[in-house]
Amino acid sequence: MTDSRQVKLKPGDTIGILGGGQLGRMLAMAAARLGLRCQVFSPDPDSPAFDVVLNATCAEYADVEALELFAHDVDVITYEFENVPAAAALVLDARRPVLPNRKVLETTQDRLAEKDFVTKLGIGTAAYADVTSVSSLREAIARIGLPAVLKTRRFGYDGKGQAIIREGDDIAKVWTSLATKSAILEAFVPYEREISVIAARAATGEVECFDVTENEHRDHILKISRAPASIPDALAAEARNVASKIATALDYVGVLAVEMFVLANGTGPKVLVNEIAPRVHNSGHWTLDGASVSQFEQHIRAIAGWPLGKPVRHGEVVTMTNLIGDEINDYEKWLGVPGATVHIYGKGAPRPGRKMGHVTEVRPPLDK
Ligand code: AMP
Repeated sequence: MTDSRQVKLKPGDTIGILGGGQLGRMLAMAAARLGLRCQVFSPDPDSPAFDVVLNATCAEYADVEALELFAHDVDVITYEFENVPAAAALVLDARRPVLPNRKVLETTQDRLAEKDFVTKLGIGTAAYADVTSVSSLREAIARIGLPAVLKTRRFGYDGKGQAIIREGDDIAKVWTSLATKSAILEAFVPYEREISVIAARAATGEVECFDVTENEHRDHILKISRAPASIPDALAAEARNVASKIATALDYVGVLAVEMFVLANGTGPKVLVNEIAPRVHNSGHWTLDGASVSQFEQHIRAIAGWPLGKPVRHGEVVTMTNLIGDEINDYEKWLGVPGATVHIYGKGAPRPGRKMGHVTEVRPPLDK
C-alpha cells in the first residue's frame, strides 16, 4: 500500500475514478474546475460519469488487463462506491495509490466489521448481533428484542437487503426472504431524527467537517436533506467529533459520510452511528450550491494531496431534494423556481427508486 503522504498531484494530472454514477460525474466536474483530469472505470456503457470525461474505461472489475491499463493511465485512484471488489483494489493498489486506502473497503463493505470497528472506538451503535442461521436469528431476537432490523452483511443499500421484524412475525420466513447466510440483527432505534456528517481528511491528518445535515428518507431512499440540522450546538459538535474520530482511526484520505440516529431522551449516548459511507454522499450534495467548497472538491483536494478547503456555508440550506424516478420529468417546473439550483444526472430511463437528479434551495443569510 502506498504512503498517502507521498501523493502530490499538479494541475493537468489524472485521477482514476472507479464507478461511473452521479457521484463519479460530480467528482470529475469538481476535479475539472481545479485543472485536474479524470478517467472513469465502469462496466456500464451508459455511465453518467462517462459524459463529462475525455477518457473512460468500460470493462468489468474482474478484467485484470483493463485494470492494469487504467492504472497506467492515471496518477491516483479513488472510488465512488463502497463495493469495489477486493481483488480489483489489490491489482490497482500494486500499481498506483488507491485513496481512501484498501482497508477502509474491508471495514465498510461488511456491516458486522463496521459495527465492531465503531464499537471498539467507544462510539455508540444500535445493539447488534451476528446472524448466520434461523436458530442464531432466534437467539439474537431473544437478546436484542423486537422490533429489530435484519440486514445482510454485504451489498445492502437504500433499504435493499433489509427486513424489519416485529412481534408475531414468522421468523423462519423472514430469514428465508433475505436469502443470505450472513446478516446482522440490529435493535430498532426509536430515533428522533436522522443526521449525517460529511468529513474530509487529508494525508496530513487534518480533518474538516461540513455542518451537520438532517436527512429525511422515503421508502428507505434519501428524499430531503437540510443544513444545518436543527439540533443543539453541543450535539452537532459531538456528531462531528464522531465522524472525525472514525476518519482518523481509518487513516482515511478523502471524504466520508457517517450516518447517525439522534435519540430523543435517555441517559446513554445521544447519537448512534448507523452507517459509514467511504465516499462522497447524497446527503452532502447541498455543499455544491450551499458552501464555498463542495464535498466533491474536498475529496479531490484530499486525494490530490492539496490543502483542504475551510467550507463556509452560503446560508440556510432549506432543502436538497432528490428527484427520484419519474420526478425528473418535472425538471422544467424546478428550473422556474426562484433560488433553486437544478442538477440532472443524465441517466437514461427513470426507473422507480432511481436517483435522477436533485434540486438545492439555499436561503442567503440576509434574506430573512
Ligand atoms: P441503512 O441501509 O442501514 O442506511 O438503513 C436505511 C434506513 O433504514 C435508515 O436511514 C433508517 O431510516 C432505517 N434504519 C436502518 N437501521 C435502522 C435501525 N436499527 N433502527 C431504525 N431504523 C433503521
